[in-house]
Amino acid sequence: MSLDEVEGRIARAAADAGRQAGDVTLLAVSKKQPEARVRAVLEAGHRIFGENRVQEAEARWEPLMRDYPDASLHLVGPLQSNKARRAVTLFDAIHSVDRPALAERLARLADEAGRCPDLFIQVDTGDEAQKAGVTPADAPALIARVRSLGLPLAGLMCIPPAEAPPAPHFARLAALAADHGLAKLSMGMSGDLEAAIAAGASHLRVGSAVFGPRDQG
Ligand SMILES: *Cc1c(COP(=O)(O)O)cnc(C)c1O
Repeated sequence: MSLDEVEGRIARAAADAGRQAGDVTLLAVSKKQPEARVRAVLEAGHRIFGENRVQEAEARWEPLMRDYPDASLHLVGPLQSNKARRAVTLFDAIHSVDRPALAERLARLADEAGRCPDLFIQVDTGDEAQKAGVTPADAPALIARVRSLGLPLAGLMCIPPAEAPPAPHFARLAALAADHGLAKLSMGMSGDLEAAIAAGASHLRVGSAVFGPRDQG
């Protein structure tokens, strides 16, 4: 199955980069995938998944979690404040923290819930005004804010612009993380996971290469 192919690509890219494949976590991004494909990947033993919407993730995973209680979910898509309460209980990590108000809300909700997902700050490395993520210029202040709230900040996340070569974006994210003492880098998707591993990715977010093309809409 394609999961094996992706794991093979990760092993080769890690070897080429002089890294251990075990230091790279594969998030199988199951958004908009038919349930049978998701079950097949679970049956193959994979347990870490990414979803990009809170409501879709809840609808899909509440039943699946009964069969696979050790499955772990990461939110990789944008988080609206009114979905934050559910996100804090459903996900083990949130990769899309992009504004101080969201960090402040997550801090209050985590306090109430007695748990907090690991957090990644999403950085708009392409500096495209309309794109998700904090600008590189505003990232240091957001990193400081998340830390001052006592939240578990794991690292940084980026989605390079679709048309651009991804490597400079991965390098920019890695440099920013190193400047701030952040260990984890959520970067690399189906088309560019090798370049992400070469640049130090710790979390790959891979959808179509694991599951096949997504349903439209
Ligand atoms: C859908 C999605 C992915 C996976 O994309 P593929 O190209 O299918 O691997 C990764 N990251 C985010 C944020 C996504 O929304």
